[in-house]
Amino acid sequence: MAKTATKKEMTIAEKLHSLYDLQRIDSEIDRIRTIRGELPLEVQDLEDELAGLDTRIANIESEIKELDTEITDRKNGNKDAEVAIAKYKEQQNNVRNNREFESISKEIEFQELEMRLNEKRSKETKFAITNKKEVFDTAKERRNFRAEDLSSKKAELDEIIAETQAQEEKLDKKSQAALKKLDTRLSAAYTRLRSNARNGLAVVPVDRDSCGGCFNKIPPQRQLDIQTKKKVIACEHCGRILVPSELED
Ligand SMILES: [Zn+2]
Repeated sequence: MAKTATKKEMTIAEKLHSLYDLQRIDSEIDRIRTIRGELPLEVQDLEDELAGLDTRIANIESEIKELDTEITDRKNGNKDAEVAIAKYKEQQNNVRNNREFESISKEIEFQELEMRLNEKRSKETKFAITNKKEVFDTAKERRNFRAEDLSSKKAELDEIIAETQAQEEKLDKKSQAALKKLDTRLSAAYTRLRSNARNGLAVVPVDRDSCGGCFNKIPPQRQLDIQTKKKVIACEHCGRILVPSELED
């Protein structure tokens, strides 16, 4: 049967090579898409950490505010006590007997105790504020570092995403050209196998006497048939097209 001169018929070996070339291009496309899919997650992680630090800073701030209020309250308490003591002392000038004098003295003593307690607690609170401010400064510093990280990471990722997009477009063109080289029957089979396979593999090399796609053992005779490249052989288990392992090199 005479062949027309338009397109030279490929040998089975050539077909297998073309199929495997196509598979490798498409696998590279899959790999790039996976990487690109994961990149935004890194930014998301940083954004989450930053939001966490912001919450922490806001919490510390409100804690410091509460402590400040406590100090003000104690100051006011002492002013009230001073007023009360002055009033009691005046009353003592007008007592009718010793018993009344003693009773007012006890009130004064009580107010003075209150004042000392307020002073002691205020000192403790001031110390707590100093500590909290240190924690606040550390958190703020860390937050600023992280914010810088985030903006540079974002820029970096935008660049990588643009880069991988360009790479993917290039590979897409190569893939389309490689697919066109195959006859319609083979290209249809390849496309169907690739879309059905979860890992996108339609053409797999023999790997340690097994199918490189589903890892089921291949009988020795079948392995020989694959080696000789005289016909296109599919895996009995998963239907993927099998090629000799040396095609990997
Ligand atoms: Zn298989």
